[in-house]
Amino acid sequence: METEVLKPSIEVLKKAAELIKRGEVVGIPTETVYGLAANAYDSKACAKIFEAKGRPQDNPLIIHISSLDMLRNSVREIPPLALTLADNFWSGPLTMIFPKKDIVPDTTSGGLDTVAVRMPDNEDTLNLIEMCGFPLAAPSANLSGSPSPTSADHVYNDMKGRIPLIIDGGECEKGVESTVICFTDNGTAVKILRPGAVTEEMLSQFCKVETDKNVFAKPQENEKVISPGVKYKHYSPKAEIIIIETDDEKALAEFLNSKKQENVYGVIFGNEQGIEINTLSYGITAEEQAHNLFALLRRTDELGVKTAYVRCPEKNGVGTAVFNRLLRAAAFNIIKI
Ligand code: AMP
Ligand code: MG
Repeated sequence: METEVLKPSIEVLKKAAELIKRGEVVGIPTETVYGLAANAYDSKACAKIFEAKGRPQDNPLIIHISSLDMLRNSVREIPPLALTLADNFWSGPLTMIFPKKDIVPDTTSGGLDTVAVRMPDNEDTLNLIEMCGFPLAAPSANLSGSPSPTSADHVYNDMKGRIPLIIDGGECEKGVESTVICFTDNGTAVKILRPGAVTEEMLSQFCKVETDKNVFAKPQENEKVISPGVKYKHYSPKAEIIIIETDDEKALAEFLNSKKQENVYGVIFGNEQGIEINTLSYGITAEEQAHNLFALLRRTDELGVKTAYVRCPEKNGVGTAVFNRLLRAAAFNIIKI
């Protein structure tokens, strides 16, 4: 199959909507990462997403809506808190989990009785969902296990020959996937299953918030997890990724300099002094680091990096999302100095 990459226009969105209505899969831009979109109510179309990604069947998809009517049509119960959060964070990088209606097939929900829903903050994608008239199930548009795509080029690298069309909406603003929450305490509190750009601090203004232990811990073998995605190896480039945690910049420089070798890189914030090995920088603020992280992991592959020592981000605000993705890319390999 030939894969077209086209900039969004009314014609291109119409073409994408036609393909999706026929049961095909299309690469779409969002503010978080690129998605691989199909009709969320069509079991066969969603099966094609799993096939294109090589994604395990029990890892559920997020459905993307353009109106609260689409939410009501897809889920059985909506706690009042969900509407408050929707009011404050949609369109935006917040995914909420609800009990699903039968219209959402098991293929989409990975066999669960619940479905994850969000309204993306991208005008072209919202228009596309409107044109389709049904929600779009869309996981990140990478091959399963690879770093998520934050540009149309990344999607093309992974999906060429597997899908007919990628809509090129430029670089994704946020760069990490959405925050995933479920409701607890009879719908009056929330639990964060995956951190993202909507942070614990932001959600705490509206309700009690706890963070699931699997956000920062490696699940035990055979452990029953709330969010199936946490079981799988994720975001991994070919290079071995090792996280270096330290506040001491002199110690960081000494450590990295002791590792000097052609294919060894330090991935740093960018303002550190005295580092003599190859470096890549991923930004000073957590927002910059989130925006750059996945492109940087892909860059290590292009450079043929063997080992990348990545400086640990701050563990608050959006930094928790960056740390969560890095931990998985590094298979929980972290060195404190
Ligand atoms: P991705 O589609 O690659 O952004 O990953 C979606 C994430 O949301 C995965 O970690 C899933 O495990 C999680 N998720 C999706 N639907 C549900 C659900 N119904 N219950 C719990 N977690 C979910
Ligand atoms: Mg993903």
